[in-house]
Amino acid sequence: MSSTRPLIAVLTGAGISTDSGIPDYRGPKGLWQRDPAAQDLVTIGPYLADPDIRRRSWLLRRDVGAAAAEPNPGHLALVDLERSGLPVRVLTQNVDGLHQRSGLPDRKVFELHGTAQRVQCVRCRVRTPMSEALDRVAAGEPDPACLACGGVLKPCTVMFGENLDPVVLGRAEAVANNCDLFLAVGTLLQVHPAAGLVRLALDAGARLVIVNAEPTPYDDEAAEVIREPISTALPALVRRIIAASRD
Ligand code: ZN
Repeated sequence: MSSTRPLIAVLTGAGISTDSGIPDYRGPKGLWQRDPAAQDLVTIGPYLADPDIRRRSWLLRRDVGAAAAEPNPGHLALVDLERSGLPVRVLTQNVDGLHQRSGLPDRKVFELHGTAQRVQCVRCRVRTPMSEALDRVAAGEPDPACLACGGVLKPCTVMFGENLDPVVLGRAEAVANNCDLFLAVGTLLQVHPAAGLVRLALDAGARLVIVNAEPTPYDDEAAEVIREPISTALPALVRRIIAASRD
C-alpha cells in the first residue's frame, strides 16, 4: 500500500442501520436470540424442510420490507470518506443494502452476510430481486417458488446453518490484512467473522478506531473508542480523517 494513500477498512454492523429503523435481529438482544421459534424462520434446515416456516418467513420479510429504510448520516459519512479520494472498503455484516443505496460503489462493499435485496433458487441458483418475490407474496402466493424451475426461493442472506461465502470472506480478510486504519462501527466484535477481521488488522499493524455504544472485547487495543451515537460520531470522525489526510 502506498503510504500517501492509506487503505481504510470500515467494518459495519447492525448499529449503523438502527437509525434507519432497521432492528438488530442478529445481535445478542436481537429477535433471533430472544425467540427461538422466530430463529427457525432464518435457519436453513427448517426453512427448506417446512413450507409453513417459509410462509411465515415471507410474511415477516414483507413487513420488514414495508418499512422502506433510507440511509442515515452514518452511511452518508462513509460516502463522503470514499469521495474524498481515500481508498475505502466497507466490510458489512448488514444485509440491508443501505451502503450501496447511499452511494458507495458495489465493488467497494463486501457483504459478509449476503444481501436481503435479492433471492436465490436453491435448485437452479438463479437470482432475482427480492421485490419481485414480495410482490408475489402480496398478490397471494404464500411461498413463491422459482419461476424457472419450481425450486424453493430463499433470500441471498447467510442463514443460520449456512457458511459465509468463502470468496467474500477471503476478500474481506485481504482488506483487513492490508489496511492502515480499521474502523469498527456499530458492531460488538464478539462473533465470527467480525472478531477475526479485527484481529487480522491489529496483527498486521493497523490502527483501530471503534465507534460503538457498548464496550467490545477490542476496546483496550483500539487507538480510539467513541461511544457517541453513530449518526453524529461517524460524520465527525470522517471529517477528522479527511482533514488529516490533507495535512
Ligand atoms: Zn430455480
